[in-house]
Amino acid sequence: MGATIFSRIIDKSIPADIIHEDDLCVAFRDANPQAPVHFLVVPRKPIARLADLEAVDAALIGHIYMVIAQLARQENVADAYRVVVNSGADAGQSVFHLHFHVLGGRTFSWPPG
Ligand code: AMP
Repeated sequence: MGATIFSRIIDKSIPADIIHEDDLCVAFRDANPQAPVHFLVVPRKPIARLADLEAVDAALIGHIYMVIAQLARQENVADAYRVVVNSGADAGQSVFHLHFHVLGGRTFSWPPG
């Protein structure tokens, strides 16, 4: 997988508003927020799409969901937030390094557009 803007955020070669990092993932605020709280959780491992997950990634994804729950509490949106993964261009994916959008602080409608 080629370098993406997220791999450059992870290696700190470009700046981002990082709110969490550990040995498996990094979380930072989205540059074009779609809600009062909107951050991205990104595995350090350069997986392109959710569709590319392998069995070996199961623990990583479990860890990311635990980080999401922790950060939702930290950002005061634990009562209502939405987690979105766009997998593939037709689903709205624009950066091909797996990332979990976490949005909160407003009411969301369903179905999404
Ligand atoms: P997606 O369309 O699901 O691939 O989401 C990509 C997200 O990355 C969008 O919400 C963008 O606003 C966000 N984004 C792109 N570049 C940056 C950046 N340098 N820092 C923070 N967020 C970014």
